[in-house]
Parts: sequence; C-alpha cells; structure tokens
Amino acid sequence: NEKKLQDLTALCKNRGFIFPSSEIYGGLRSAYDYGPLGVELKRNIMNEWWNEMVYMREDVVGLDASIIMHPQVWKSSGHLAGFSDPLVDCKICKERFRADKAPTAEEGEDIVISFPDKGKAKAALEYIKNTFDIELERKGKSLHGAKADHRGYKCPCCGASGQFLSEERQFNLMFRSFLGPVDPMEEIAQKIEQGKLQDLSGRELREEIQKSVDPSTVYLRPETAQAMFVQFQNIQRTMSMKVPFGIAQIGKSFRNEITTRYFIFRSCEFEQMEMEFFCKPDTAKEWLDYWKDKRLGWWQKYANTPENFKLRQHEESELAHYADNCYDIEYNFPWGWDELEGVASRTDYDLKKHESGSGKKLQYRDPETNEAYHPYVIEPAAGATRGVLAFLNDALCVDEIPDSKGVPQKRTVLRLHPRLAPYKVAILPLLRKEGMPEKAREVAKMFFESGINARYDEVNAIGKRYRRHDEIGTPYCLTIDGETLENNTVTIRDRDTTKQERISIEEAVQIVRDKLK
Ligand code: ATP
Repeated sequence: NEKKLQDLTALCKNRGFIFPSSEIYGGLRSAYDYGPLGVELKRNIMNEWWNEMVYMREDVVGLDASIIMHPQVWKSSGHLAGFSDPLVDCKICKERFRADKAPTAEEGEDIVISFPDKGKAKAALEYIKNTFDIELERKGKSLHGAKADHRGYKCPCCGASGQFLSEERQFNLMFRSFLGPVDPMEEIAQKIEQGKLQDLSGRELREEIQKSVDPSTVYLRPETAQAMFVQFQNIQRTMSMKVPFGIAQIGKSFRNEITTRYFIFRSCEFEQMEMEFFCKPDTAKEWLDYWKDKRLGWWQKYANTPENFKLRQHEESELAHYADNCYDIEYNFPWGWDELEGVASRTDYDLKKHESGSGKKLQYRDPETNEAYHPYVIEPAAGATRGVLAFLNDALCVDEIPDSKGVPQKRTVLRLHPRLAPYKVAILPLLRKEGMPEKAREVAKMFFESGINARYDEVNAIGKRYRRHDEIGTPYCLTIDGETLENNTVTIRDRDTTKQERISIEEAVQIVRDKLK
C-alpha cells in the first residue's frame, strides 16, 4: 500500500499532474504545484461540487471571500484562542510531532528506539548516556533497555517515549502576517537598540512585543467557513433568501501543519469546498441526516469503488466545541481510512459569536411569523485537494489488455470518471502523413470550439499514444486514419474496454458530449 502511494506520486510527477513546489530549489515541505493535468482534474472536481451544491439548487448561493479577513473574525470564532494542535518534541531524534495523531506508550513499556543507520544509533547511545544517564544496549540500528517512565506518546519517527519526550504544548495553526507599511519586528528591534526594553521582566517584555505586533496582525484564513457567517446578513438580504438556505464557497485555506505526510493529503496550503446551510433550530437534525447522505452520494457517484467511501459518526469526546453532532466522510486511502470531508451540526454557535464580537445582529426574521431567531447551521466541509488524491487513488489500476498479436500486456490505466478526466478526448492522426494531421487538426478544432477539453497528439506510434492517454485517464481517443479521408469517419476508442467503433466526424462532438452526461 505504501507502494501504491509511491506509484501514484511518481505518476503524478511524470505525467504532469502534480509537481513538488519550487523543485529546482529543492522543494518546500509539503507544498505542491498542480501541473497541466492536475489543474484540470482539481477544477473538474470543484466544478462538479459547485454544480451539485449551487447550480442544481434554488436554496444555495455562492460566495468568494477575501482570504485575509478582519482579525476580530478569528477572535470571535475562537480560532485565535483555540485553533491549535498539541505539539511534542522528541529529545532523541528531534522530530516535532502532533500528539493527538501519535501512537501511545504505557508506563513501564519497553522502549525500542530505531534509526535509519548504525552511525545515528551509536551517536544517540552516547547522547542518552550523557544527557539522561541511562545506559542502553545497541542492536544494529536500534537501542534497547529503557522503559517508559510514564504513560504518554511515542515518537512516530524513532519510537522514543516517556522521559525522552518533551511536555505537550499548544501550537496555533494560523499563519500570521502584517497588514500595511509597518514592520513590527523592526519596531521592536529599534526599541531594543534604544535600550527601551532593557529592564523589563519577562512578562512586561512579552506585553511590549504584543503591543507592537497586535495592531497590524492579520491571519491567512484556516478555513473558508467564517466568511459565510460574517456575510450572512448581506447575502440573506440582497438575495432575499428564506431559511432554510445555504452559502457555498470554494477557495484556498492555510494551516501551519506540524505533520505533513502522505503526498497532498495534509498540506499547509490547500483548497476547501464548504457550504453553510442555515436552518430552523428544530430541523437541524433532519438536515444533518440529509446532507451527510447527499455528500456521501456525491463522492461515490464519481468512484470506481464506492465502498471505499463511508460515513463515520464522531464520538461525543471527538466533537469540536461548536458542534452537537458530526459525521466524517472517510476514504480508504493507501494508509487506511482517513477524513475527506466533515459534515458538522454547528448549532447557532458561529452566528452568536460573531454577533457578540461585532455588535451587529445576525438573526433571521421569519417573514410569516415575524419571529427573529439565530438559525442553526449544518456544514458540509470538504477538501478539494484531498479529493484529488482520493479520486486518483480510486482510479489508478494496472490491468491486462491484448496487444496487436492478441498477447496480454500489462497496462497502467487511470479510470477517472469522464467528467473528472483532464482531457475528455484525444485526437490522434494514425500517421504523420497523407493529410492525416491536417484532418486531425480540423477535428480537434471542432472540439476546442465546443468547450470539450481535447488534446491533439501526434507524437509516437499509435499504440504508445493509446497507452499514454490510458495513463492520464483520457476516456476517449479519436483516431484519424486512411478511411477518414475517404468517408469522413473516425474510430472512437473507449479507455476502459479498449473497444473501438467507427463514427462520422459530423457526429463526433455530440457523441462525446452525450457520453459525458
Ligand atoms: P484533520 O483532522 O485531517 O486535520 P480537520 O478535521 O481539521 O482535518 P476540517 O477543519 O474539518 O479538517 O476541514 C474540512 C476539510 O478540509 C477536511 O475534511 C479536509 O478534507 C480538508 N483539510 C483540512 N486540513 C487540511 C490540510 N492541511 N490539507 C489538506 N486538506 C485539509
């Protein structure tokens, strides 16, 4: 399964889906660029979401809000105080990891500390002896002989636990920046130079620094949701929305994640597809049921293996402070089941918080009863970039197809749903002569003008081109051959069955369009 993720990462890079960011400079931890095919796949996923969540409904409207919002938003929402992960440092291998995602060790448990090579193990043996006054035994690349002196976490990197780990502390995940032509760091530096901060106690110094930093501090949004609450009144009024109604948004969010792993699964910059659905308080339970099923169905609709998507209800102890119920939609990733989307019942927590933070009423007045109240909110919040990974994993497979002599040959094929596939159709002249490229370009132009994303491709022998398009998930290949020039027909090849049919050029665009419905 580790191998599947490696194969997927390699295919993404080699075929133009996803590249490591700033690769020529050595890349940046867990930042990725979506290449020519990746950008299409990601947009197709987002468009399908927008279609179902906005265009196909009369009760949901869209929003595209600013990434940098008023800092008070994050105070009111609770993110400034509480949007943090518990962090632990390993004193042995220096790994910094998220405690809530780490394995645990019992008090008295045998500790086995492992390293990638013997040299590192030897150095650690010395370090432990000098620092902790504990003599361990080395067996090859691992150290034995210590027991955990208290129950706690286990370093996911080397396996150390107990006395070898730091205390747990909270780390806020929001990226901070400064708005306007001010540099608070420079101000502090000047004060130090002028000797103004010399005789302050630790606490006074901290307050002084805070005073310089706070006025211009802004945050990159860690979720798109808050803008929907903050713009609730504007949208409800301008669009005359009646409860129940929803506000949908797709956009970038940023979290200074401690542990970034598994390719694009958890990155510091990612994209979300979120909708806040405002309803009467006594209908929240029904709407949660409705949205959790609707959202699971959406993911499954595009999947080859729908059983790999499932709902998981949160335990009471897992619920975020603002939620009274929550379901995760999980996907069976190569490393196991993990979250793709959360469908949370957020009560009236957010509207009330922003009401008291801003002093502006965020209520809805029922036009029939004239009663004013704070609607409850159901929030389906999905990761678009995680969706890319899930759908790629769902689509990637190796099967066998017969070659021209009927001998079975292995091929890699990306069985992406045609609506998600980057190119819907490849236009291939069989030979690079006898007028075939010219005719193929005419056919390609018909597709370009029809809004169906098509790729003209004349490089390599036809068999190789079919293989290449199988590997990038192109569902249909149109081949222009000798017969085309005689009777204006082309063959259309299906990626999954590899069957070919002859169709007239005139009907080609309509035939592909029908297949994409
Ligand atoms: P996790 O527990 O995996 O960190 P979360 O519960 O904090 O996720 P939410 O705040 O509910 O996530 O965000 C909604 C969705 O946004 C998630 O289901 C996920 O698909 C996506 N998402 C959240 N954080 C990241 C990230 N760092 N990278 C990519 N996608 C993310």
